[in-house]
Order: sequence, then C-alpha cells, then structure tokens
Amino acid sequence: MIKKAYKYRLYPNKAQTTLLGKHFGCVRLIYNHGLAEKIKFYEQTGKSLSRYKIQAQLPVMKKEDRPWLAEVNAQSLQAALINLDRAFLNFFKHKMKFPRFKKKAGKQSFQVPQRGRIDFENGKLIIPKFQEGIRCKISRRFEGETKTFTVSKTATGKYFVSVLVETLDEVPEKKPITDAWTIGIDVGIKTFATLSTGEDVENPKFLKEELARLKVLQKRASKKKKGSANRRKAFRTVAILHEKIANRRNDFLHKLTHRLTSENQAVAIEDLNIAGMMKNHCLAQAISDVSWSEFFRQLDYKCEWTGTNLLKIGRFEPSSRTCDQCGKINRELKLSDRVWTCECGAKHSRDILAARNIKRFALADDNLKYIGKGLPESMPVDVTSLDGRLKQEA
Ligand SMILES: [Zn+2]
Repeated sequence: MIKKAYKYRLYPNKAQTTLLGKHFGCVRLIYNHGLAEKIKFYEQTGKSLSRYKIQAQLPVMKKEDRPWLAEVNAQSLQAALINLDRAFLNFFKHKMKFPRFKKKAGKQSFQVPQRGRIDFENGKLIIPKFQEGIRCKISRRFEGETKTFTVSKTATGKYFVSVLVETLDEVPEKKPITDAWTIGIDVGIKTFATLSTGEDVENPKFLKEELARLKVLQKRASKKKKGSANRRKAFRTVAILHEKIANRRNDFLHKLTHRLTSENQAVAIEDLNIAGMMKNHCLAQAISDVSWSEFFRQLDYKCEWTGTNLLKIGRFEPSSRTCDQCGKINRELKLSDRVWTCECGAKHSRDILAARNIKRFALADDNLKYIGKGLPESMPVDVTSLDGRLKQEA
C-alpha cells in the first residue's frame, strides 16, 4: 500500500475561522508548554520527561486556569505532544536542530489523527468540533483509508487541509538496475543540477529576480516601526511573494522529479546533510537548501511510486576531481576551475564529472546490497577499481 497526501484549499466561515484560530493557538500552547517542561525536567534530573506525564497535566490545566483548552479537539493536543517527541528524536538520532518554541507569526497548523473525512459530494471537510463541515475545494478524489488530517494556515492567511491516505495502490516492484538506465545527479547553487548525461538543469529563470525583490522587500519591512500597521502590511507583502516563489519552485521540482523517475530505472544522488546545511547565512544559499531538501523528498517518494531505485552515496569529496578515465585525483583543482584536463589526456567539465562519478560510485557502493539487487553480470563499468583507488588515495 502506498501512502499519499492530498491537499485541498479550505474556506472557513467566520465562526469556523475563530475556532480554527483557537485550535492553532492551543496546539501551539501545548507544544511550547511541553517543550518548556521537558527542558526544566532535564535540567533538574538529567532525564527526559515522558509525553504521558505532560499529557496527564492536560485535564488539570483545563479545569484550572485554561478552560478554553476544552473547546478544541483533545486529539489535536495529543498530536502536538507526539510531534514534540518526534522533534526530540530527530534532534538526538538524526542530529537535527534542537526543538524550538513555536511562534504566533508564520505558518500555523494542527493535526487531527482520527475521525475526519472529506465529503466529496458537498465539498466539505468534516473533523471533530467542526461537525457542520468546513467548505473545501475538491480538486481531485482519492480512494483508501484516511490516516491524518493536517489543517494549516499560511502566512498570507490561506487555509488548507492535507490528508494522508493509505491508498489501495500496491508498491510497484523495483526496476532492474542497469548502467545504461542509471542517472547520476549533482546538485549545485549556480546550476540547479547537472546530470551524468551531460545535461544542465538550470534554476528557473524567475527565481533570481524574485529573490532579489524579496531581499529588498524584507529589508524595507524590517525598517518599519515595530508594532505598527505599516510594518504588518510590509511583512504581509513579503509573505505573499515568499509564497509565490515557493509555489513556482515546487512546480519546477515536481516536473523535474517526475521526469527523472519516469525516464530512469535508477537515480543516484549524494546523501547531502541538509540539516547541517540549513545553518548557513546567505539567502540564495538558504533557498537552495530548501529546494534541495524538497527535491530529494520528492525524488524519494516518486521513486517509490514508480519502482525506480534511489541510490544514495555518502558525501563523496573528490567527485569533481577524480578522473573517471584513469582514476587519478586532481588535488590542484580550485573551486573556480570549471574545466580541467587530466594527465591521461581526458578533458573534464567539473559538474558533469561529479554527476558521472556519483553514478559510478553509487553502482559500486553498498547501497546495492541494501536495496537487495545485485549488479547484472554484464555490467561494463569497472567501478570496483575506482573505489579501491579512492581508498588508497584517501
Ligand atoms: Zn585521467
């Protein structure tokens, strides 16, 4: 069974907007309360406070000073604590950022883990506390069992629901891996990606101009007086442009990942440490990071849907400086050198070489054991010797 997410725009009426606002607020409050409790408990005891201990405080909080907590769906409050646990797990296990307190500004969301449904006939989302249904624009239907409903409000004030559905579709069998139908991808900042076939995938043209405009608007907004209506208005303009950029960028990524997964039997990428990259400063870089992580996320699930193999290799330092003809590593290569000629006479374009090496390395790597497919015996590429040489040089 394949899980798929379906997203619909919501049009709540006035009373529903207020009640949705209460849900966002209470979920944020419980999340932040849980985070504060966990930090306090850890500082006092050196141990981690379980979700159930925090959950047990909820009825008391409702009775005493926060009676309005009872107005929202209790399951959504519990889901917030489950998400908090997951954030801690990501921090400890996957070295992601320490969980942060949620702010009132920006995107808001809450989850409904059970007892929701989409009424396709009447175009409504039915969830607990909203029994009369929130008006919902049906763009496409789905079949299968609904798992989680995530209701969100964007920074520009639009409402959406994303429904996670366990569809009836079977997971397709993996395609065989062959050298001819494997593509290597090297992502970059100037060019979005370079493929082992030699093709450059450029960043969409609008991106550069829009990012420059975003920078100007952001600067202008942050100069406005704090708390003023002008400042609020200016930041809303920023949010609208931000949303527009994100939508167009996602559209570009969807087309690209669709093409890559439908045209190939295996896709080889470097397993970049996105969480680590997010720490950096400059805007263009930050947007690139977001694009890459979204690109990899889409590749991941589209590979699953289409039976395409996703081959990930670890960070492969000399991918742009290892000659794929003789295996020699060019240690003199500078970042500014876009092309170079190896001692053996082979001419290389840096990015294409990187993409080709990612492919070669992926086909030689242990990844193949992991996904349970062996190399076909007729494989013409001598990748093992390259691998051996790399280890010697390192
Ligand atoms: Zn060479």
